[in-house]
Amino acid sequence: MSKSTAEIRQAFLDFFHTKGHQIVPSSSLVPNNDPTLLFTNAGMNQFKDVFLGLDNRPYSRATTAQRCVRAGGKHNDLENVGYTARHHTFFEMLGNFSFGDYFKHDAINFAWELLTGKEWFNLPKERLWVTVYATDDEAYDIWNKEIGIPAERIIRIGDNKGAPFASDNFWQMGDTGPCGPCTEIFYDHGDHIWGGPPGSPEEDGDRYIEIWNIVFMQFNRQSDGTMDPLPKPSVDTGMGLERITAVLQHVNSNYDIDLFRSLIKSVAQVTNATDLENKSLRVIADHIRSCSFLICDGVIPSNEGRGYVLRRIIRRAVRHGYMLGAKDTFFYKLVAPLIEVMAEAGEELKRQQDIVEKVLKTEEEQFARTLERGLQLLDEELAQLTDDVLPGETAFRLYDTYGFPLDLTADVCRERNIKVDEKGFEVAMEEQRKRARESSGFGTDYNSLIKVDSRSEFSGYEHDEQQGTITAIFHNGQSVTELKAG
Ligand code: ATP
Ligand code: MG
Ligand code: MG
Ligand code: MG
Repeated sequence: MSKSTAEIRQAFLDFFHTKGHQIVPSSSLVPNNDPTLLFTNAGMNQFKDVFLGLDNRPYSRATTAQRCVRAGGKHNDLENVGYTARHHTFFEMLGNFSFGDYFKHDAINFAWELLTGKEWFNLPKERLWVTVYATDDEAYDIWNKEIGIPAERIIRIGDNKGAPFASDNFWQMGDTGPCGPCTEIFYDHGDHIWGGPPGSPEEDGDRYIEIWNIVFMQFNRQSDGTMDPLPKPSVDTGMGLERITAVLQHVNSNYDIDLFRSLIKSVAQVTNATDLENKSLRVIADHIRSCSFLICDGVIPSNEGRGYVLRRIIRRAVRHGYMLGAKDTFFYKLVAPLIEVMAEAGEELKRQQDIVEKVLKTEEEQFARTLERGLQLLDEELAQLTDDVLPGETAFRLYDTYGFPLDLTADVCRERNIKVDEKGFEVAMEEQRKRARESSGFGTDYNSLIKVDSRSEFSGYEHDEQQGTITAIFHNGQSVTELKAG
C-alpha cells in the first residue's frame, strides 16, 4: 500500500524534525504586511524577514507544509489548470529552511536522503534528474561527486535565456525580495509519457516533472534590480505535496492521487457528471481548494485586488459546472468533501465551514443569473467569427454586462482554439473608464494592475443574519477593515 497524501505530508515534516528542524504551522494565504505579494506563493514567504535579517526566531532550521495560491500575481498558474498534469491554483508546498545555518552541502544531502532513503521515500535513483544553476560548480560537484549522480542526469540551466538570473534556475519570490540560484530535482515518470528532460525542447511534457526546488538564498533584490547580498547565506526549499504524492502513488498526474480522486468523485456527484475523465471535473476540484482556503483566510469576492482574483476563480468553476450540466448551485457543496480530504490541513477550514459555504453560495447565485445569457451571446459571436480572434469589444461586453472575467471568456475560447483580442478589451475598458470617470482599480482584470493593501492578521468573520452581510475583520493596529459579501 502506498502512502496517502496526508501521510506523505507528515513524513516530510517528521524527516526534517529528525534533522533538527522546528515544525512551523502554515501561514495564511494573505501575506501578513507584505504589499508586494498578492497571495502566499511559497513556503519562504512567512520567513522573508528572517532571511533579510530583520526578524529573529528562536530556531535556525524550520520545516513547513505551506498552503500556496498561484493565481494572479507574479507566479500565475490559473491558465495551466486542466491543461498540465502538475499545476494547481492551490497546492501545499513542503519546505525546509536554514536561516544562516546549513547551506548547499546539507540541503542537497537532506533532499537525497529523504527521496531515496530506504526508510523514507525509497525512490529509484535512476529516475531522478537534477538541474543546477549554470555557473554553480559547487552544487554540480555535490550532486556528481558526493551523491554520485552521473553527468548525463545533471543539467546546467542559467544565463542562456537572456540576462543573468532571468532563467528558471534563479528563484525569486516577486520583483523584489530574497532570491538566489537554485538546484531542482525532477522525476522521470517513464517513456510511455511524452516529454523531455529539463532544458530540452520537450521539457513541458508530463514525463519529467519538477518535484523539488532547493534555493540558495543569497541576495535581496531591490526594485531597481540591484542584488544586495543577504546577511547570511541561507536555504529555502519547496516540494509540491501533490507532485511527490503522484510519484509515490505511481501515477503521472497530480489529479490521480488519492486526494484528487476522491474530490473529483464528489465533484461528479454534485454536478451529475458521469465521465470521470472530463477535464472540467479537474478544474472544479482544483478551484474549490483555492476558493475555500482563500475565503478561509479572509478574502471575499469583490471587484478589485485579491477579492477579484477570487471572484475570477469562482466564476470559472461555476462555468465548468454549467458545462457539465449542473442544474443547481453546486460549488459550495464541495467544501465538506474538501475538508475530508485535507485531513489536518483542513482544520481551520472546518471551523469556518459555514461562512465559507455561504460566501461561495452567494457568489454562485449572483453569477448564475447572467451566466447562461452571457454564454449564449458568446456562442452566437463565436459562430459568426471569420477568423480565430474574438473581438475585444465582445469580451468587454461579456465582462461589463454579464460579469464574465476576461480569463473566463478566454477559457471558453481556448477550448475552440480561438484567441481573445486582449488589447481591444483594454481599449474598451479604458473608454468606459473615461466615460464613467471611474476611480482607478475598479474591476480591473489584469494581474499587473492588481493592487493589494497590506492588512495585518485576519481575525475572523462576523455574520449578520438579519442584514445578510458577512464581514471580514482585520486587526491593523487600531483600525478594522470591513468587507461585505454580495
Ligand atoms: P513549474 O516549473 O512546474 O511550473 P515552478 O518552477 O514554477 O514549477 P517553484 O516556484 O520552483 O515551481 O516551486 C517549488 C515547487 O512547488 C515545485 O518544484 C513544485 O513541486 C511545486 N509547485 C509549483 N507550482 C505548483 C503548482 N502550480 N501546483 C502544484 N505544485 C506546484
Ligand atoms: Mg511554475
Ligand atoms: Mg520550474
Ligand atoms: Mg521551480
